[in-house]
Amino acid sequence: MFNTLKGKTVIITGGSKGIGKGIARVFAKHGANVAVVARNLETAKASADELNRENGKVVAFTGDVQDRESMKAVAFEINEKFGSIDVLCANAGIFPSASLEHMTNEEWDTVMNTNAKGTFHAVQACIPYLKQAEYGRVVITSSITGPVTGYPGWAHYAASKAAQLGFMRTAALELAGDQITVNAVLPGNVFTEGLEGLGDDYLEEMAAAIPMKKLGSVEDIGFAVLFLASKEAGFITGQTIIVDGGQILPEN
Ligand code: NAP
Repeated sequence: MFNTLKGKTVIITGGSKGIGKGIARVFAKHGANVAVVARNLETAKASADELNRENGKVVAFTGDVQDRESMKAVAFEINEKFGSIDVLCANAGIFPSASLEHMTNEEWDTVMNTNAKGTFHAVQACIPYLKQAEYGRVVITSSITGPVTGYPGWAHYAASKAAQLGFMRTAALELAGDQITVNAVLPGNVFTEGLEGLGDDYLEEMAAAIPMKKLGSVEDIGFAVLFLASKEAGFITGQTIIVDGGQILPEN
C-alpha cells in the first residue's frame, strides 16, 4: 500500500517547517516529487536540502497563500517543473494568540486570510492541473481547534479552521465529477520545532492533555495525509481524520 504516490507531484503549502515539513518527508520517502511552498525561500530551500539528503526529490518554491496571483504563479511554475500536479496539501497556517476582548480587525483578517482564504487560493490555483491528473487529491490541514474544541486566545484561528471544513465539503462536491477528492486532517497537539523554545514544563503540560501522554509527531500527521492522497483512498471525499492521540475523547 502507499506505493501509488511514486512519481506523483505533491505540493505542500507551508512545507518548509513543522507539520508541512513532516508531510514533505513522508511523501518524499514514498517516492513523490515534492514541491514545498512558503514565503521564506531560504528556509524552504534549507528544508528541501535536508530532505534531499535523506533521499528525496524535494524542490522549494516561494509563494504566499494570502495572495491569489502568487498561488496561481507558483502552481504554474511547479507544473512546468514536474509536468503535473497530482496532490495539493493545503497546510500553510498561522496561529497568533489574541483575546477576544482585544482582538483587532487586522489580527482577525490576517488569520482568516492565511488559513481560510489561503486554502481557497491554493485549491483554486491547482484545479486546472488536478483535473488533468489521473486522480487528483486535496488534503487540507485543519485542526481539532474550531471544528471540535475551543481554545482561549484563538477565536480567529478556530473560526478559520472550521471554515476550512465548510469549504472542503463544497469543494469535494464540485470536484467529485473530475475524480478529485478533497479531505482534511485535524491534528491535535503536535511537536514542531516552533515549540522547542517553550521549555519542558510547557511541553509536559501539553502532553498531559493527551490520553497517550505524548505530543504527536509531524510524521504522524504526514501518514494520515499520505493515506488520503493515495489511490486506495479514492472513494473517500469530504471527510476528516482526527490525529490527536485521543485528545478530544475525555469527558472532563
Ligand atoms: P509552523 O511550524 O509555524 O509552519 C507554518 C508553515 O506555513 C511555514 O512553512 C510557513 O512558512 C508557512 N506559511 C505561513 N504563512 C504562509 C503564507 N501566507 N503563505 C505561504 N506559507 C505560509 O506551523 P505548524 O505548527 O506546522 O502548522 C501547520 C498547519 O498545521 C497549520 O495549518 C496549523 O493550523 C495546523 N495545525 C498545527 C498544530 C500544531 O500542534 N502544530 C495543531 C493543529 C493544526 P513562511 O513563514 O516562510 O511562509
